[in-house]
Amino acid sequence: MHAFPVRLTESPKPLPKDVSKSFGDAYGDHMFLMDYDRERGWHDARIEPFRNISLHPSAAVVQYAQTIFDGSKGYRRADGGIHLFRPQVHVERLNRSAARLCMPPVDPDLVLDAMLRLTRIDSRWVPSEPGTAIYVRQTMIGTEGLMVVRPSNTYTFMIFLSPVGSYYAQGAGPVRILATEARVRAAANGGIGTAKAGANYAASLLAGVEAHAGGFSQVLWLDSIHRRYLEEVGTMNIFVKIGGEVVTPPLGDSILPGVTRDSALTLMREWGLAPSERPIDIEEVMAAGRDGRLEEMWGVGTAAVVSPVGELTYRGESVAINGGRTGPLVQRLYDAVTALQYGKAPDPYGWRV
Ligand code: PMP
Repeated sequence: MHAFPVRLTESPKPLPKDVSKSFGDAYGDHMFLMDYDRERGWHDARIEPFRNISLHPSAAVVQYAQTIFDGSKGYRRADGGIHLFRPQVHVERLNRSAARLCMPPVDPDLVLDAMLRLTRIDSRWVPSEPGTAIYVRQTMIGTEGLMVVRPSNTYTFMIFLSPVGSYYAQGAGPVRILATEARVRAAANGGIGTAKAGANYAASLLAGVEAHAGGFSQVLWLDSIHRRYLEEVGTMNIFVKIGGEVVTPPLGDSILPGVTRDSALTLMREWGLAPSERPIDIEEVMAAGRDGRLEEMWGVGTAAVVSPVGELTYRGESVAINGGRTGPLVQRLYDAVTALQYGKAPDPYGWRV
């Protein structure tokens, strides 16, 4: 265990009345912080009452988006205990994001300790209603005030908590998605899509707004070069089942290597489904949709876990998937992943901490 000071709040906040529909509406009572400069490296690790932060108006994060984050979830077990799901993998990804954005790596053991300690201190914020969890957000920002474009010399790292329900208002039901050719989330061959960088989310906003205006809940991202190959759906990795084959796009510069993607691949391999990682052409998906071979389509991510796609629209044409209902493989995956997360199934992989 790493030793760092803890200062507890004198005014604990009331818990949200209904967390089942909330995502980021409430934050825990405390936060973990540490600071970085070139001389001392990371220092002053501590837990404090949750508060606003103050920044130089010209801080690297404010002007040039030098910010990364990651997020894992903690779950309340039936016996009242709490565990985090694959937190180490999220911290490893945070350090890969840091390297891509010229930011300093964190000590993974220290950060894991901090995540566990903070969750324990704020354990009353971990909800127990079905489908709810505590979201553990890690964020690193460049804090140096600068005008020139270069990496910041100073950074702040934070962890804070937010009790969450089901990510989508529709709950776990199938969603309508729109494949966009006009906008891309991240550039192939050299972009930052593989990092969990704030800039990627800023780049995604307009397409999301346009999709919502058209009555769609998510954007299906296509690759930046050909505008043909499936990349991700909203902020989730994408899977399709076409003519019996389960497929997900291979990882590259423009796709976030999702932890849930990895969990889903692991489970499906164990089930003998031999999922493949290969490029998926939108024309192939639409053709399969027309002739009935598009069996299932779904997104995977920490927030929604497994989210079925009920209808896909591309160039003005829509295809329904599994009659707009949740398919059997999506349901099986959802049940298996959530059973592991909530401690209702044995954990042969050591995913619970
Ligand atoms: N893609 C993007 C763009 C995301 O923001 C996320 C959420 N982290 C994912 C995929 C899913 O990743 P994970 O399963 O690790 O949450």
